[in-house]
Amino acid sequence: MESVPATRSHWRTFFINLSLVVLLAVSGLYAGLTLSSGRTVEAEITTRARTIFGVLLVARSWNAIHGGDFVEKRPGDLPGPPQRSPDVVGSDGTVYNRRNSAQMTREMSELVTRDGLFTFHLTSLQPLNPANAPDPFEAEALARIERGEVAEVSAQEQRGETNQFRYLGPLRVEESCLECHAAQGYRVGQVLGGISVTFDVTEAEQAVARGRRIAIGLFALTAVVLLVVLGRLVSGLHLRLNAAEARIVEMAITDELTGLRNRRYVGQRLTEELARSQRHGRHCACILFDLDHFKRVNDADGHAAGDAVLRGVAAAGRVALRESDLLGRWGGEEFLAVLPETDLAGAEVIAERLRQALEAMRITWQGKVLAITASLGVVAALPSRDPDARDAELMVARADQALYRAKAAGRNRVEPG
Ligand code: GH3
Ligand code: MG
Ligand code: MG
Repeated sequence: MESVPATRSHWRTFFINLSLVVLLAVSGLYAGLTLSSGRTVEAEITTRARTIFGVLLVARSWNAIHGGDFVEKRPGDLPGPPQRSPDVVGSDGTVYNRRNSAQMTREMSELVTRDGLFTFHLTSLQPLNPANAPDPFEAEALARIERGEVAEVSAQEQRGETNQFRYLGPLRVEESCLECHAAQGYRVGQVLGGISVTFDVTEAEQAVARGRRIAIGLFALTAVVLLVVLGRLVSGLHLRLNAAEARIVEMAITDELTGLRNRRYVGQRLTEELARSQRHGRHCACILFDLDHFKRVNDADGHAAGDAVLRGVAAAGRVALRESDLLGRWGGEEFLAVLPETDLAGAEVIAERLRQALEAMRITWQGKVLAITASLGVVAALPSRDPDARDAELMVARADQALYRAKAAGRNRVEPG
């Protein structure tokens, strides 16, 4: 049937669209999960940096609140800030050296550097101490914070094989800062500099990358499984719908009682055969036949007996016709046979064979033997020469007139049209 390739392509399109929608949904799900787990790790890392920064701020505030820490002076210690009494001598003669918050922070940063777990760096865009000079990340972060664009800055840096997380939070001017920076005209609350915190996040990044790879693998697996399942589902559906469609088509062209083709189908085929005969310059014939006194069968033996006779006529008719002929039920107890590539003489021979077959047919119904005859009207035409013969309705009408003549002439006979 011509509609089959189109139907197949529709199914293919349906399968592709369905697969795309499902794959899009699944990939969105996996991408969302991967993204959210990556974000969670990133947020966790930022929190870690903020915590370190926060603890340092607390330590600095504690130092500032108490006006600095006095620690035992060790050889090599520089004197304290010149603005206040630098050193204090204890009753036992021990010399104590004062550390303000900046000194304390710097010394602490040297300690953690040795530890290696994380590092931090006190920095400023205008450092008094050259050791506090910002690196490129710190310089840019400080500039952005000072411009008021952001409250804090974080970034990742590749150092060799490792991934370093960088964070910079602002240090605002407190009273204690003015001790050293008064000359620079700082105001309390103004951003003085910042503390940058750096630690290694290679492992965390590797874990995120591993998670991403696992998600891609799982997505690929899910996609394959889904495509196989969808493919089977769609092809199963396709087969079932095809079978149902074929059943419906068969029902639409079949006469239920006799199993012959119905009037719509046989009429359409006659039209097609006439057109083909016209193209090839060949004859085409048809036989219209009607059972004689069929009403009597119904009246005498019942409608079911009449049905059995109609089924018998269909079977006998199929046998009497040739393989290339088509027999259909035209309506009631009338039948139409289409005989492609057959002229009138040939059609009359077939019609006579059919008449004899029906006459000889015996149907046994509830112990009773039933017989029937038929009157047949035969027409043949050359559609390439006869325009009237290109119209199936006209051909059937001519066959009907011949049939009428057969009835009028005494029934059980063949009349050419
Ligand atoms: P004639 O020789 O003039 O054709 O006589 P007839 O009795 O065959 O013609 P008529 O048109 O008077 O009767 C046709 C009958 O066919 C009437 C109708 O009940 C019967 N018939 C039509 N379809 C069916 C069917 O499907 N089953 C049965 N049992 N009878 C049917
Ligand atoms: Mg009849
Ligand atoms: Mg009739």
